[in-house]
Amino acid sequence: MTRMTPLLERNEQFARAYTPAALGLPTTQMIVVTCLDHRVDPAIFLGLRLGDAPVIRNAGGRVTQAVIDDIGYLAFLAGQLFAGQLTDDRLFEVAIVHHTQCGTGLAADPGFRHQAAEATGLAEAAMEAAAVTDPHITVKADVERLLASPRLSPKVSVSGHVYDIATGRLTTAAEARYP
Ligand SMILES: [Zn+2]
Repeated sequence: MTRMTPLLERNEQFARAYTPAALGLPTTQMIVVTCLDHRVDPAIFLGLRLGDAPVIRNAGGRVTQAVIDDIGYLAFLAGQLFAGQLTDDRLFEVAIVHHTQCGTGLAADPGFRHQAAEATGLAEAAMEAAAVTDPHITVKADVERLLASPRLSPKVSVSGHVYDIATGRLTTAAEARYP
């Protein structure tokens, strides 16, 4: 008996009623980038089902180089595998979702940041830059960062949204735009 045991039981229930999703374009033609926070699960608050959308998660839902690389690879893969299925010349919309009460916001405090840097080896400047204190501001900055990347396919658009932990509601902070 480990902490994983009850989750394995849930998986057993899941697998009994399971139907695999066919390999194809993600049915929503969306990619979601959001925070790893356990209160922020896009499968639940956006009602995503299997096969609907790739989801990329990290601390804060920030547009890092790793996120840009993943989106570039997904666009390449979709272009290679599903070119015949595309109805127009557009591949995906990337929805970047930041949220209220984000734990990365604690790193905006210099004392906390210093302690965290000592304990984890993370760079203080990187933590400060990644902190989401006002998700409306950071999500717009990250939409611009992704749109400005020379790596972004012209067939991919980008939008920005804020998820409110208190209400469960998503509001759009930046409408979808192509690079
Ligand atoms: Zn967060």
